[in-house]
Amino acid sequence: MRIVLMGPPGAGKGTQAALLENKYNLIHLSTGEILRKEIKEDSSLGHQAKTFMDKGQLVPDTLLLEMMERRLKNPDCDGGYLLDGFPRTIPQAEGLAVSLDKLDLSLDYAISLFADELELVYRLVLRGKNSGRSDDTPDVIRDRQRIYWEHTAPVLGFYRSKGLLKEIDGIGSIDEVFNRIVDVVEK
Ligand code: AMP
Repeated sequence: MRIVLMGPPGAGKGTQAALLENKYNLIHLSTGEILRKEIKEDSSLGHQAKTFMDKGQLVPDTLLLEMMERRLKNPDCDGGYLLDGFPRTIPQAEGLAVSLDKLDLSLDYAISLFADELELVYRLVLRGKNSGRSDDTPDVIRDRQRIYWEHTAPVLGFYRSKGLLKEIDGIGSIDEVFNRIVDVVEK
């Protein structure tokens, strides 16, 4: 199974991705996590990405597409994967479609978690206090939300038009939201 998991910052993508990874034996590929690892390893990609990430801005599409095309060719992806935080723009969604086409593969679902914006900001400020993530501060959170609505929300339309989009209410307990996702995937 190949799934794209979408939703505004704070919607619970990471938490749900971890549960899906376990249940369906998928590889969980979070572009945010991959980029944070590159920064920690002081790689050239990490250097390029850091200036954008610290400001809550999107890392340029070309960098993301090269990184993900390489990653998805890895044999550990053969059994299926869950993309968390990618694609985040229309060019990324189109680039992913081309990469998959080259491998003669397609996506099964694009799952979108939706939630009230105030609730999301509240969750993220709380997470910032606990995680120490440099981009979980109120100003940067607001920028990341704005960028989501400007650049990422249009990707929902892209997948809707392909019949892949499944929209799921992201408010509720972790288990409640997870069960909603499982219902959709197993229908
Ligand atoms: P996340 O952990 O998904 O919230 O991502 C953290 C940050 O990494 C984002 O605010 C962006 O700066 C960067 N990032 C992650 N995924 C992408 C992507 N698909 N396109 C551009 N930037 C990304």
